[in-house]
Amino acid sequence: RPRVLSGIQPTADSFHLGNYLGAVRNWVAMQHTHDAFYCVVDLHAITMGHDPKILRNRSRISAAQLLAVGLDPEQCTLFVQSHVPEHAQLGWVLSCITGFGEAGRMVQFKDKASKAGQDSTTVGLFSYPILQAADILLYQADQVPVGEDQRQHLELTRDLAQRFNTRFGKTFTMPSPYIVKDTAKIFDLQDPTIKMSKSASSPNGIIELLEDPARSAKKIKSAVTDTGRDILYDEENKPGVSNLLTIYAALTNRAIDELLEAYEGRGYGDLKKDLAEVLVEFVKPIQERTKLYLDDPAQLDKVLAVGAEKARAVSAVTLARAYRNVGFLSPA
Ligand code: ATP
Ligand code: MG
Repeated sequence: RPRVLSGIQPTADSFHLGNYLGAVRNWVAMQHTHDAFYCVVDLHAITMGHDPKILRNRSRISAAQLLAVGLDPEQCTLFVQSHVPEHAQLGWVLSCITGFGEAGRMVQFKDKASKAGQDSTTVGLFSYPILQAADILLYQADQVPVGEDQRQHLELTRDLAQRFNTRFGKTFTMPSPYIVKDTAKIFDLQDPTIKMSKSASSPNGIIELLEDPARSAKKIKSAVTDTGRDILYDEENKPGVSNLLTIYAALTNRAIDELLEAYEGRGYGDLKKDLAEVLVEFVKPIQERTKLYLDDPAQLDKVLAVGAEKARAVSAVTLARAYRNVGFLSPA
């Protein structure tokens, strides 16, 4: 079976629809066809300033949600990044073969840094894509299911793998991004020109899986739509309506063309009302299951402990090989 690895940051009290449709939904599917490793990347969640108590809580909520949307610890390896020390260890080595300018060209870094300002931009935020490369390469992943916003980071990962292999001998598998075009970028409901984001979206622009479903329904109904009245799929001129159609199609497994036919001659209001209903029905069972997992933190921690052990069995082997190839003395 080909190997996959992907991660999600515990940087909010809930995942949003973009995380689910762009990435996590594919994780669930791939656990049955791939040797799958998925992690809650808490090391990445401290790059922008955080509160320890909130972080701890969010890491558990993230794991519970992943189980609630369908990850099965019998089918995949689910773990927390900080439980596996090899991530930080390989991250250091990779940072020593990454150019300063190369890392500085990462668009997400530039975006997040310009928002945070010079004084609150950390070195960790700067080097986070290098740690992400370590996450992936440690597991010799063939594929990495992510949203479109991660494409550039995957390119960096590939460059680093290639560079390391060339300089120090074949060590890492070359990973490819696995990006499903239709849902690769879910847009903010209030500003359909930017991606829905945990850190950048306004409260009304983002649908959180764990928020009150009535609130989600309201947000769908007040989503920014476009001039004109016809329901058309046109990303350029009708980004708002197109985004709603993308979400609708993905949640119901219907083709956009089929939806366009069904809504011909009808208005935005009808579309929003129906989508709001679909969404509410979709999130309800996820919320119930998340709560069940959170109600038993001891069991949840056990699942994560087993996952960490399985992850370390792979990551320790890769790290040892990387250390040896790079020229570190093996401990006697
Ligand atoms: P942050 O704003 O803190 O970076 P985020 O919303 O980007 O949070 P991440 O934890 O960084 O969430 O990303 C988890 C996964 O979700 C990644 O694979 C990412 O590509 C994907 N993803 C994030 N936002 C979207 C979106 N709007 N559409 C599709 N996929 C997305
Ligand atoms: Mg992100």
